[in-house]
Amino acid sequence: MISREEYIELIKNEYPNDYLEIIDGLSKKRSNALRINTLKITTSDALKRLDDLNIKYYKSDISDFSYLVSATNKELMDLEMFKNGEIYLQSLSSQLPPLFLDIEESQDILDMCAAPGGKTSEIQMLGGNKKSIMALEADSIRCERLKYNLEHLGCRNINVMKKDSRTLDSFFRFDTILLDAPCSGSGTINILNEKDLKAFSIKLVENSARLQKSLLKKALEVLKPGHSMIYSTCSILKMENEDVLKSVLNKNIELLPLDINVELLPQSIPNTYTIKPSDKYEGFFIAKIKKIR
Ligand code: SAM
Repeated sequence: MISREEYIELIKNEYPNDYLEIIDGLSKKRSNALRINTLKITTSDALKRLDDLNIKYYKSDISDFSYLVSATNKELMDLEMFKNGEIYLQSLSSQLPPLFLDIEESQDILDMCAAPGGKTSEIQMLGGNKKSIMALEADSIRCERLKYNLEHLGCRNINVMKKDSRTLDSFFRFDTILLDAPCSGSGTINILNEKDLKAFSIKLVENSARLQKSLLKKALEVLKPGHSMIYSTCSILKMENEDVLKSVLNKNIELLPLDINVELLPQSIPNTYTIKPSDKYEGFFIAKIKKIR
């Protein structure tokens, strides 16, 4: 539990020049976003259906299949298109990490924290349902949800396992890895919402950071030399982002530049990207990490 004043103070300490805009972004109601699932429908057919349903949509800056929509969650979930798995409700920030994975040149892909499966299914959509993905999830109920979602969205070749990724055998090797780590959610909090503030605490940030560091260490152990991976969180706090990266940075690790066409917060380490919370984007962090040898 944290009070609104304490939360604002925390953000002010981290971002003294930007905190007012961040707080403004964290107070706004975000438009709903969806991903057109091109495993099941073409983008043009999906947009035609939305036109027929009189649902207003706005193309995002991030991809051809990512849209903001004027409908409510309930209205979207009542649509046949949603029930058929032709669209998936996924925030724009959450759609970013798969876009920066080297999917084309990879065959064996690991998704270390996969449920409910938004990013796993997006990776397989980008891979044309042809990649071999291992999707791990530690929580059994969330793991069932993950299996259901992947099936519903028409994904194939995904080996879903209920497993703590930290215990993955060291003999595995992957061409690329997504570590969309569990976090405090500091970038997605609505600071006008008591429930969000109740769920947040400094202890949660500290515990998340500890878990994130061990997950990232394991990721780098099972990533093939010369290959790269993505580390992401929906937190904007350095303790869960830059500090986690610092715990593994050495001369065998390189952070790669990304072409992110979204408003960012100041970088404290080059080639790390913290997305500024706004009415369109959740606060989010992304870094692409190369294991040199
Ligand atoms: N990537 C998912 C998506 O796009 O739908 C969201 C992942 S969510 C941020 C983090 C997930 O990691 C949660 O479902 C949580 O249960 C799971 N998790 C937490 N600790 C884990 C661990 N040690 N190993 C595997 N999964 C874990």
